[in-house]
Amino acid sequence: MKGPGYTSERQAVIKASIAMNACGINQGTSGNVSARVPDGFLVTASGVSYEKMELDHVVHVTFDGGYYGDHLPSSEWRMHMDIYKEKPQARNIIHVHSPYATAISCLRQDIPAFHYMIAVAGGNSLRCADYATFGTERLSKNMMIALADRKACLLANHGMICFGGNFEQTLGLAVEIETLCRQYAIAAQTGKPAILGDEEMDLVLAKFQTYGPAGAQAEYNQTNAVVPPHRLD
Ligand code: 13P
Ligand code: ZN
Repeated sequence: MKGPGYTSERQAVIKASIAMNACGINQGTSGNVSARVPDGFLVTASGVSYEKMELDHVVHVTFDGGYYGDHLPSSEWRMHMDIYKEKPQARNIIHVHSPYATAISCLRQDIPAFHYMIAVAGGNSLRCADYATFGTERLSKNMMIALADRKACLLANHGMICFGGNFEQTLGLAVEIETLCRQYAIAAQTGKPAILGDEEMDLVLAKFQTYGPAGAQAEYNQTNAVVPPHRLD
């Protein structure tokens, strides 16, 4: 294994890869996982079973498209590189062929705000990137268009990709996107889902800034803050 060691970072990539298959949002050697490092990123090797992955199957790729070691990086290395280059907040990336997101991606449609949780993607829709062959620069270009102001998107006739600030967040987002696609599939099969308007989604996006354990402390946009009950002690 040439290049810097990054042992704990490589272990984290393998752990997240195994977790994504274990929790049912990916299968086999589909998908790929990466982590940003100071001089590039570490990405799963192409076509290697996650269960059998050794540290040197997590390939160090530099931002000029070079790689270290004996194993080829994921065929989708360019998607990972382009996200890290353009989105400074991205520290981890997960690409999966999860059943519902992949099924919906075959419709080649953006998913509108049928549920307020669509805001987890970063805006008022979950976009679907135009189709291009897997492992191509064209696919990465299409993905970057769909990821404008977003942290997740579908890839037409392929799957989905998302990024976050750490693996817990990124895996959680991938599971949430898959769940939304499942809910949308059920709703669209059952009837015609009502879509939340832009004004409502702007409010939801503002409320997301104060949602969660630290919500009460958040300074952002108190007008639209999530309101806790009054504290008793
Ligand atoms: P890799 O095994 O090369 O990462 O490919 C899997 C995949 O999902 C391609 O889109
Ligand atoms: Zn793929």
